[in-house]
Amino acid sequence: MQLNERQEKIIEIVKQEGPITGESVAQLLDMTRAALRPDLAFLTQIGLLEARPRVGYYYKGEQNAYRIYGKLEELSVSDYHSEPVVVTEDTSVYDAIVNMFVQDVGTIFVVDKDNCLEGISSRKDMLKIAIGKADINQLPIGVIMTRMPNIVVAEEQETLWSAAKKMIEHEIDGLPVVKTLADNRLEVIGRVTKTNITKAFVDLGKEE
Ligand code: ADP
Repeated sequence: MQLNERQEKIIEIVKQEGPITGESVAQLLDMTRAALRPDLAFLTQIGLLEARPRVGYYYKGEQNAYRIYGKLEELSVSDYHSEPVVVTEDTSVYDAIVNMFVQDVGTIFVVDKDNCLEGISSRKDMLKIAIGKADINQLPIGVIMTRMPNIVVAEEQETLWSAAKKMIEHEIDGLPVVKTLADNRLEVIGRVTKTNITKAFVDLGKEE
């Protein structure tokens, strides 16, 4: 974890002067209290500083600060992923939509006869087609899906944090969890979504 220059200065001040009010830290840094607020909030959140009402900030130490990072390292996709919902390429868009509703998922995976990943289709992919002129009873999902190799995947042993980062970077709601076979095809064994990440986040809070 890298602190920025200002955060390092705040730590030094609080180490020497603490307990010290946010107002006084701001004065020493020649800044306003408001401008300092995000840094103080961050340093408190990660546990380097603690804020006591009417007393001010004091230094809590490194050990505490790294605890949350240690926990994040421990959360793995294998502990949080859900069952995948899959269809084959020749399934009609209509049936895929019904499947999505019945199984209550936002993304459906398209697989071959060996359960290996061929494509993915999201709620909005379906919505786009459904509001157009196409006959969704006739149109196969294979025509509208996002295809391999342009699919972002996760592996079971990957950290949940790494999966979450992929979702944010690629602006997607979920990833198929896959196992790479000897012939390099990706067998679908699960799905990890923003909901799984939210659950892990809530669990982290419970433990704290
Ligand atoms: P929505 O489109 O319903 O908001 P997403 O944000 O997950 O859902 O999907 C955005 C687009 O990215 C869609 O076109 C979808 O087919 C595609 N997509 C969804 N998940 C993945 C993934 N894991 N890898 C690559 N593309 C994906």
